[in-house]
Amino acid sequence: MVSIYAEKILRINLKTKKISTEPPRRDWLALYLGGRGLGIRYVYEEVPPGADALGPENKVVIATGPLTGTIAPLSGRFTVVSKSPKTGTINDNYVGGSFGPELKYAGYDAVIIEGASESPVYVYISDGNVEIRDASHLWGMRVREAMEELRKEHGSNARTMVIGPAGERLSLISSVHVDEYFVAARGGIGAVFGSKKLKGVVVKAEERKIEIPNPGRFRETITRLMKESVLTEANLWAKTDGTPIIVDLSNNVGALPHLNFREGYYEYAKFINTDVVKQKFHSRFACHSCPLACKRKIKTRRGVIKAPEYETIGMMGSNLGFKDMDDLAYAAEVADNLGLDTISLGNL
Ligand code: SF4
Repeated sequence: MVSIYAEKILRINLKTKKISTEPPRRDWLALYLGGRGLGIRYVYEEVPPGADALGPENKVVIATGPLTGTIAPLSGRFTVVSKSPKTGTINDNYVGGSFGPELKYAGYDAVIIEGASESPVYVYISDGNVEIRDASHLWGMRVREAMEELRKEHGSNARTMVIGPAGERLSLISSVHVDEYFVAARGGIGAVFGSKKLKGVVVKAEERKIEIPNPGRFRETITRLMKESVLTEANLWAKTDGTPIIVDLSNNVGALPHLNFREGYYEYAKFINTDVVKQKFHSRFACHSCPLACKRKIKTRRGVIKAPEYETIGMMGSNLGFKDMDDLAYAAEVADNLGLDTISLGNL
C-alpha cells in the first residue's frame, strides 16, 4: 500500500548515542491528523509527569503531518513539542520554512530526541544516514553564525535548526531557530535543547519527493482548495500585508499592548504598523508551498532585516514604546540572533 506518511519515526538517544527507527503508531496517525497531535501524544506518553523539563527525562519531538512536503498549500509548517521548563506543561511550537518537508523527504514522519549529551552535539539526518556529531565548535555561536557554519559543512541546501547562546544558558525565554527566519519560540524550547547539549539538527534529503497515492486526483483537489479556501479575498491580507496588518486593527479596538498592558492604545503605532513595513519593503518570502508568502524583509538604516511579525511588534514594539521601525526590527534581529523569544522578551 502506498502511504502519504513516511511510515518511520526516528529515535535518537543523546546519552547512549543509540539511533533507531520504528513505525509510527497507526492508531495515533488515524486519531490525530497532523504533527501536532502526534508530537503531543508522544510527549504525553513518554515523558513522566514529574520529569524535570531541563532534565534527561524530557524529550523533544519534531513532527510533521501527512501533507508535509506535498504541494498542498501552507503544508510546510511542522511541530516541535516537549515539556516546557517555563510552564511545566506540554509545549507545542509551530514553525514554518522548509525544515519539516525536508525531514519527510529524508524519510521520517517525526524525530524523537531523548536523554542528554555530556558535551555539545548536533544531529545530522540524511536519507538512511543519521549521526550525532560534535558541536563544540558551534557552542557559543549566535544563531546566524551557527547556521552559516552548518551550511558550510553540509551545503547551502541543508535545512538547519539551531539554538543561540540563550538556549545554551538555559534561559526560560529561549527559542529554536529554523531555516534562517523561522522560529519555535515559545515555552523555553531553546533551553530544553540546551539542557541536552543539543545545538541543533540538520536535515538534508537526496531527493525532494513524496509519493502520492493518486497524484492526479490529489492535484485536482489541491487546485480546487487553492481557489476556494486559500487564495480568497478573506485571506488576501496575508499576501498584501502579512501579520503587521493586525497592529492597527488591535490599536483601533484598544487591544494593542502598551506599557505592560496598562494601556491598549499606542499613539505612535503609525510608526511601526503595516504601512511602514510597506514603505520599507525589500522582498517577500514564504514557507514551503505557500502561495500567500506573508513574510517580508525590509530596508533599514542597518541593512535588510526581516520585518517583525505582529506578535513582536506588539510585545517589543508598542509594549516597550518603540517609535521607529528600523530600531524595532534591529532589536528583534539581535534577540533572534541570541536565540531569545521576542514575545517573552518584550513582556519581562
Ligand atoms: S508564509 Fe505565512 S501564510 Fe504561508 S504558511 Fe508560512 S506563515 Fe503561513
